[in-house]
Amino acid sequence: MSAFSLTTLMYHYVRDPGDRAEAGSGIPGLAPARFEAQLEYLAQHYTMITWSDLQADLLGQHSLAPNACMLTFDDGTCDHYINVFPILRKRGLSGLFFALARQPGDGLALGHKIHFLLARLGVDDLRETVWDHLKPAQRQIYTQAEAHYRASGEKSAVELLKSILQRDLSVPADTILSELIAEHIGDEAQIAGEYYLTSAQIAEMSANGMHFGGHGRRHPWFDWVSAAEQADEIGASAAWLRTIGPGPFPFAYPYGGYNADSAQLLRAHGFSAAFTTVVRVRHSDPFLIGRLDGEGL
Ligand SMILES: [Zn+2]
Repeated sequence: MSAFSLTTLMYHYVRDPGDRAEAGSGIPGLAPARFEAQLEYLAQHYTMITWSDLQADLLGQHSLAPNACMLTFDDGTCDHYINVFPILRKRGLSGLFFALARQPGDGLALGHKIHFLLARLGVDDLRETVWDHLKPAQRQIYTQAEAHYRASGEKSAVELLKSILQRDLSVPADTILSELIAEHIGDEAQIAGEYYLTSAQIAEMSANGMHFGGHGRRHPWFDWVSAAEQADEIGASAAWLRTIGPGPFPFAYPYGGYNADSAQLLRAHGFSAAFTTVVRVRHSDPFLIGRLDGEGL
């Protein structure tokens, strides 16, 4: 596989305050009007391609335009059906959507619980409330992790809290944050049911030129879980994607995290490409394709 150039945009929430996707959660996102302005610019300066085009290129069937650009959307939130899909369809564009392989009874992924609680409580209150729920040994882990992330250059209170809850204390945080959602926001199952794309929405998007890829089931940092847990997450994505169409499939590493096991596990489960959050447009490994954050443009 030779190196290739591809500008891949990565989007998450696309919403306005108070719209149907934001639904009073207070979780901010890229305004749909700004998203459309970006598409206007991209369509003028790039050759917009689809996952099928990239797939054909990876298989050596044809090669990409030198200024190829692809749109990707992570996490499978309702924004993608409510706000993104109509805009792409109107412009004759396709998107690649990395949704979670949700199973009956799944609530919110840990990272998303954090978004809801940060929006409701603010970072200082959330940190303090989580601290109150931690056992002494967990508080010790928290303090050490906080010092470690500070020393490695992380200064933002939000990023410090997220790093610790998503990595070092992800197991207790999952339970504690569910309790806090019930206490401060509402019924998690109902919130999750409205927050993520439904199977019907995915089917409609898929029937209208949109592509789907894997993003795990529970969205852990792959470099913080065992190879067995990574295999579980990847297997869940492969099983879910096979209900939509034939592979090979694309994957996006949750939070952009991966380790030495990741690519091989993905290959073994029928994936042919994987996307990181590393900012670059020239790629030498189809399992480490970099992306630019559309929100930061
Ligand atoms: Zn994600």
